[in-house]
Amino acid sequence: MSQGAAGNPTVAMIEAAFAHHNLHWRYVNMEVTPAELGVAVRGAKAMGFRGFNCSLPHKVAVIPHLDGLGESAAVMGAVNCVVRRGEKFIGENTDGKGFLKSLNTAIDPKGKSVVLFGAGGAARAIAVELALAGIQRLTLVNRSETRGGELVELLRNKLKLDTQLVVWKGDYSIPTGTDIVINGTSIGLYAPEARLALDLHTLKQGMVVADVVFSPVRTRLLEDAAARGCRDIDGLGMLVNQGVVGVQYWTGLNPDPEVMRKALAAAMGV
Ligand code: NDP
Repeated sequence: MSQGAAGNPTVAMIEAAFAHHNLHWRYVNMEVTPAELGVAVRGAKAMGFRGFNCSLPHKVAVIPHLDGLGESAAVMGAVNCVVRRGEKFIGENTDGKGFLKSLNTAIDPKGKSVVLFGAGGAARAIAVELALAGIQRLTLVNRSETRGGELVELLRNKLKLDTQLVVWKGDYSIPTGTDIVINGTSIGLYAPEARLALDLHTLKQGMVVADVVFSPVRTRLLEDAAARGCRDIDGLGMLVNQGVVGVQYWTGLNPDPEVMRKALAAAMGV
């Protein structure tokens, strides 16, 4: 359920999974105004929906209309995926889970040391899932001290994660011993030349470098990281995997991520 424009590539991706599994299901993009949100959720329940996604501005506002929250959604205080469990509508957050699924193809984050750039919605979702997955420590690098500080407090207080905030000024040097580096900012989105303020010499061979930005798929950060011998994870994988997790929640099936990635990439023209 979203306020986004029709023709969302997510529709193509999710319906490709339904078709691949011979499910005669539909994933429909609908616009809902903030004033009608409660009515829309009750309507979806009454009509037997198995669930829905919701995007801004409904990610927080939808919560009072639900029957409960999954663990990470409760910590984040934001829902992007609603799932029918019995007669209940439960709010989940699949952004961070999608990222984690993608990251797991390169590295198990348990016990690892992570540097995360950004403190917006995507970074928040990722940080919470990484904490729940048992990372050892997180260095959060963010331009705004206020926003960065809020996320650090949440991670320390609710998840007891060893977290440090660095206010981002000039080129940041990745500390020795870092295992995973993540761009959780919008830097690079639709801007292939945009550069993350980072001292590239501190990216070391074997580090895993991930980007949330999905267009272009090969961001400048990922190209720079690959050139320095890092393993890289693109943002398209996160987008696909949050869809995979949603389909798993709604159908109980394990959809083929490749089928979904192909459909998404074709619809996005990337
Ligand atoms: P928000 O607006 O909530 O947060 C943006 C973040 O980027 C903030 O931390 C902001 O810093 C930082 N930022 C933006 N511009 C700059 C800059 N010039 N210099 C330094 N920091 C900057 O956005 P979201 O978290 O919702 O989205 C972030 C990105 O993640 C987007 O590109 C989005 O498309 C992508 N995304 C990808 C997903 C996927 O599945 N691959 C899923 C969700 C999002 P500050 O706090 O200082 O303002």
